Amino acid sequence: MRTSRLFIPTLRQTPGEAEVISHRLMLRAGMIRKVAAGIYTYLPLGLRVLKKIERIIRQEMNRAGAQELLMPILSPAELWRETGRWDFYGKELLRCQDRHDRDFCFGPTHEEVMTDLFRREIRSYRQLPMNCYQIQTKFRDEIRPRFGLMRGREFVMKDAYSFDADEERARLSYQKMYDAYERIFARCGLEFRAVEADTGLIGGSMSHEFMVLAETGEETIVYDEHGSYAANVELAEVPPPPEEDTATPLALEAVQTPGTKTVEEVCAFLKVSPDRLVKTLFYQTPAGDIIVVLIRGDHEANEIKINRFLGTTGITLAKAETVSNVSSAPVGFAGPVGLKGIRIIADHGVKAMRNFVVGGNMNDTHLINVNWDRDFAVEAFLDLRQAQAGDQSPRSTDRLREARGIEVGHVFLLGTKYSEAMNATFLDADGRETLAIMGCYGIGVSRTAAAAIEQNHDDKGMVWPVPIAPFHVHVLPVTVSEQVVKTAGMLYEACAEAGLEVLWDDRDERAGVKFNDADLIGAPFHLTIGDRGLARGMVELKRRNTGEVVQLRPADVIPHVRDLLSSHDLPVR
Ligand code: ATP
Ligand code: MG
Repeated sequence: MRTSRLFIPTLRQTPGEAEVISHRLMLRAGMIRKVAAGIYTYLPLGLRVLKKIERIIRQEMNRAGAQELLMPILSPAELWRETGRWDFYGKELLRCQDRHDRDFCFGPTHEEVMTDLFRREIRSYRQLPMNCYQIQTKFRDEIRPRFGLMRGREFVMKDAYSFDADEERARLSYQKMYDAYERIFARCGLEFRAVEADTGLIGGSMSHEFMVLAETGEETIVYDEHGSYAANVELAEVPPPPEEDTATPLALEAVQTPGTKTVEEVCAFLKVSPDRLVKTLFYQTPAGDIIVVLIRGDHEANEIKINRFLGTTGITLAKAETVSNVSSAPVGFAGPVGLKGIRIIADHGVKAMRNFVVGGNMNDTHLINVNWDRDFAVEAFLDLRQAQAGDQSPRSTDRLREARGIEVGHVFLLGTKYSEAMNATFLDADGRETLAIMGCYGIGVSRTAAAAIEQNHDDKGMVWPVPIAPFHVHVLPVTVSEQVVKTAGMLYEACAEAGLEVLWDDRDERAGVKFNDADLIGAPFHLTIGDRGLARGMVELKRRNTGEVVQLRPADVIPHVRDLLSSHDLPVR
């Protein structure tokens, strides 16, 4: 394709609104343009990348036995009312009414529509297993759409739904999708990790997220060195400390700690390390109840775990005013000793501690030599904290490490959550009506494109992995002399002939402008043709990822590129 004919409106300046690198580079390279918050047009270059990701996904889904179909974007409220998600999904579900005032929503995911199809069409166990997928535009009215394609309101998703006759077969279907996802992201040329994950608004009994590893990722994952365990930190289990402190309890004592509100300040003042202190966190449930959570000073609370224990969603830290009302001390000085009528739960890290420091429930006061049971009662000790680097792995003797990731895929073993709510049954071999066991499997196609850039870029622009690059070769004639233009044209034809996707910068622009745009767009190979080189019978091939440059005779370009691409499953002739 010739640059002069292709709609690639590159920008020299970095657009002010873009906070993350993928957003900035996609705008600058003319891949996307914003239409409204979280809503974008994919320009030709951006669409090429999406189509490549989609192609890999389709191939692997088909290979895993899933069948493609296409459901509507709009779906009627009745289906969503059957599962309770019409209310439960809240404001993220974009709703509308038709001319007869009937309620509809723009699909954020399609469990309801797919389960409805299943219950109408599938009768017998002989028709199972069934797995259907689609690649479609989804709408979620995200509270904070941001980071370009990373968190859009409208975005492209691949979603698949499996139906099985029993739990064991459902696990097999889940495993097939898990394996397909591993192949998909590997074939996209991305560095990624599958991690155990929370099931969130979708629900179910087991789930894994596929994370593209990138320092800019929103998610934190923990994993152990030998691969026995990897999980989203939201969910990661923390085993109880192997040893408990057996020190003799000392006499409780109140000490003055003026103006020391943070863990660091208190510890510095009392000359103790943070693992000798217990933080007293006051949480408020959506119903308005207050619950105290105790966490060791050098650990962080995990609200998902607290919610799970309480059977709530959406607990929040209580306001400073509430804390001082119930503890009669300002935040920072509140503690568990002497609290009346308030539930206290504690992380099991606290259970291992003796003679620790807590807030004294009085301004500028802390208590030292505090011991649970003797000084206050704890309703339950359990895993309530966030895992962190250095913790012991729950599955091996390794220590956990931390990494940042971008969630590009999520697989769920749903069980009967949706089939039960919507009565999706089939007749088993004995003619008994049986609930289908479901799984659902999503990939953020547009987010994958953005994640690929977050992982693969430098200060000049994008560095596309070959399999999802918008073009493989960028032909860059540096002058408009007859022989340069002729050689460029010849090489362009030869590349195309060989099955490579090639972009020819045929604009009458300075060489510097062309080089900058080429680095920005990030095709894996840049083929530079100049008068000086040609005088020696040579052109120059640069690899965008390593910056390595080789001088080649024009006739050697195709064999050379073919060689470099031999490890990729590209149809290069
Ligand atoms: P997140 O936690 O990032 O909000 P989610 O857990 O709500 O995502 P799923 O319901 O698992 O997402 O959706 C499947 C996939 O769709 C995700 O793995 C992600 O890649 C993609 N996705 C979800 N929300 C968005 C969004 N707002 N913009 C772009 N892609 C998204
Ligand atoms: Mg998810």
